Formats: sequence, structure tokens, C-alpha cells
Amino acid sequence: MLSTEALIASLTPIPSPSHSASAVLDTPEPVGRLRDSFGRAITDLRVSVTDRCNYKCVYCRTGNEGAQYTELPIADYLRMVRILVSLGVEKVRLTGGEPLLRSGLVEMVADLSQLRTAFHPDGSPLAPGEIGRPLDLALTTNGHLLEGLAAPLKASGLNRVTVSMDAVDAETFARITRVPRSYDRVLAGVRAAQAAGLGPVKINCVLLHGFNDSQIEAFAEFSRREGVIVRFIEFMPLEEGRTWTPQTVVTMDEILRRLDAWRPSCSTAAGLVELPPNAASETAKRFTFRDGVGEIGIIAPVSRPFCGHCSRVRITSDGCVRTCLFSQSDHDLYSFMRRGGTEEQIASYLRGVIMKKESRHHIGEPGFEKPSRNMVHIGG
Ligand code: SAM
Repeated sequence: MLSTEALIASLTPIPSPSHSASAVLDTPEPVGRLRDSFGRAITDLRVSVTDRCNYKCVYCRTGNEGAQYTELPIADYLRMVRILVSLGVEKVRLTGGEPLLRSGLVEMVADLSQLRTAFHPDGSPLAPGEIGRPLDLALTTNGHLLEGLAAPLKASGLNRVTVSMDAVDAETFARITRVPRSYDRVLAGVRAAQAAGLGPVKINCVLLHGFNDSQIEAFAEFSRREGVIVRFIEFMPLEEGRTWTPQTVVTMDEILRRLDAWRPSCSTAAGLVELPPNAASETAKRFTFRDGVGEIGIIAPVSRPFCGHCSRVRITSDGCVRTCLFSQSDHDLYSFMRRGGTEEQIASYLRGVIMKKESRHHIGEPGFEKPSRNMVHIGG
């Protein structure tokens, strides 16, 4: 029987319109786990399952535009994921648009939960007959529809959920999402997710100067009260409009200064306590308070880029691969698949695409160009 590598080497390349010869086989296929040209292992996949979103968050969308990209049959996303898992992906995060708008999502999670990793955690291949671990399955959502879906998603095999919340008071929240009464819905969703066992729920918050930066301490209280992990994410130039400036970004240093000076309760002194990272590739710096109650993460792609540890690749709702949030172009995996690529050809195509992964983003540098898609059309 031919080895996989020999089989791949015998295949005729299929040219792709957007990503041509270099992604196909004219050189011997690399073996082992998917790696980029800088040696970074690609283990973390984000899949946008729809470009539609039911919120119009002011820092993300203009409010005048709807979905711009199509969505694929769920079976096509599943095929893409299966191939990427065979190449070393271990974590899959479903996102959007707003993923909870997508019909068939619960069933998709059930199918994903049947997949097993193809490599050991150290990157070595499984022995013949050895079965890998279940994937780490997560979801990023605005939480509006989560109350009713948390339990079915958990039952289907979802492990974790991240809910985006940019305020913890109802009025500011509705001003940001531009949807009336959205705060109560999302809070109910967060609580349902905790109750269903999707916790500890992570809350992602993007802070903007003069807009919601007054919420920092309230979010810390929220983390302590609700038992959730609050993660502040620096605002990146990925919005549909043109609101980003360096001055709008609330940086990690500023958040740390504010929280370090904050006294959580009369019996607890002020002062943050740093927590160890969960993994080398973790993007958040983690903190708690002196009594150990509450957890705050800070993700600082603008002031402290972490591209050197990037293990991510993204698939957009219309089936394109993005190797970086800030890529200037996509790689049209769906077109390649539709022209009848076999699993091996698709795997080979993906290896070629990953070799083009950018070394880092260039936010704040002279000549920085906005990427070819905005956050809502990538998935975060
Ligand atoms: N609708 C889902 C949600 O709200 O989580 C998934 C898609 S949303 C685009 C994913 C995440 O991207 C959200 O947490 C949102 O706050 C974040 N986001 C959007 N625009 C951003 C920007 N310019 N900089 C940083 N994060 C951003």
C-alpha cells in the first residue's frame, strides 16, 4: 500500500484561482503536524458558520450593512474541519457573524464531538490503532439566543462558551449593541451556560476610551459575582467603519493600573495577583484579586502582540482560509473543494496555504493597511 506521502506525491495538482501553484504539489510533502514557515504548529481553528449577526455593535459594524458573504452547507464545514484535524488541529471554536443564528449548529457540534485528534499533545503521531483525544470544542457568541441553546449545545458535546459583553449595565449595553433589552437576554444566556456546565464562562469585552472604559471595575465585580472569567481585549483596527485610532484603544497597562488600585470589598485589600498561564500559546495575561475571587484576563494584541505564539487559522463563512486576522487576502478553500479535490489534495493545499501564514501583524506601524475583511466577516 502507498504511504500517505507517496500517495500525495503521485497526485496531479489542481490549480486554484486565488491561490495558485505554490499551494500544490511540486515538492515533497512535509510530514507530521501542520506547521507554518516559522515553525509554529497550527492547532487552533476558528470556523465562522454564518456572516449574519443580530447585533450591530457600534465599534464593530456600521449598522447599515448586513451579511456580505454566503454560508456553506454544514457538511462542507465539517469536511474542512475533519481534514484540518487530520493535520493537527485540536481546538475548534465556532463563531460568526452570530453562530447561534445558524440552523443545524447543535447537530454540527454533535458531529464535531465525534472527531479525535491525530497527534499527541507533543506533536508526535499516534501509533497505529491508537485513538486520539476528543477535540476542545468552544463557541464565541453574543449570547442573545444562548439561554435556550446552552443545554442542547452542552449535551451535543460543546465544552466551553465565550460570551461577548461590552458593558454590564443595561443602558450602556443596549447603546453598544443597538438592540433594546439585550442585556437581560445575554445575562440569562450567561447564567444558562454556567448552569449547563459550559463554564467557567468567559466574557470578552472590548473597551473604547470615552465609551465604555468606565466599566472596568464593574466588570471586575461582575466576574466575582457571576463566577465568570472576564477578558478585556484591546480594540483592533478591524471595524467596518473608521472608528479606530490609537487613542481609542484602552491598553493593558491602563486596565492593570485601574484594577490594581481597585478595592474589591471592605475585607479585601486592593491589588491584583498574577496567575500562571494555562498554556504557552495563551493569549491572555491572567489575574485575580487578593482574596482569589474573580478572574480577569487581558488580551493585548495592540500594545503587546503575541504573534510569535500564534497557533491559529480561520475559515470564513464562505469557506475561505485566513492565516491571520490582518491578512490582505483569503485562500478560497471552498472553490478548491468544489472542483473535486480529494482529501489528500485538500490536505496538501492547506499545507501550502499555512506556509504563507504571516509572521505578525503591523498594527500601529507606518504603512499599516486594514485587512481585506472586518472582524464581523471573519469571526474573531
Ligand atoms: N457574534 C459573536 C460574538 O459577538 O461574540 C462572534 C463574532 S464577534 C465578531 C467576535 C468577537 O470579536 C467579539 O467578542 C467582539 O467583541 C470582537 N470584536 C469585534 N470587533 C473587534 C475589534 N475591532 N477589535 C477587537 N475585538 C473585536
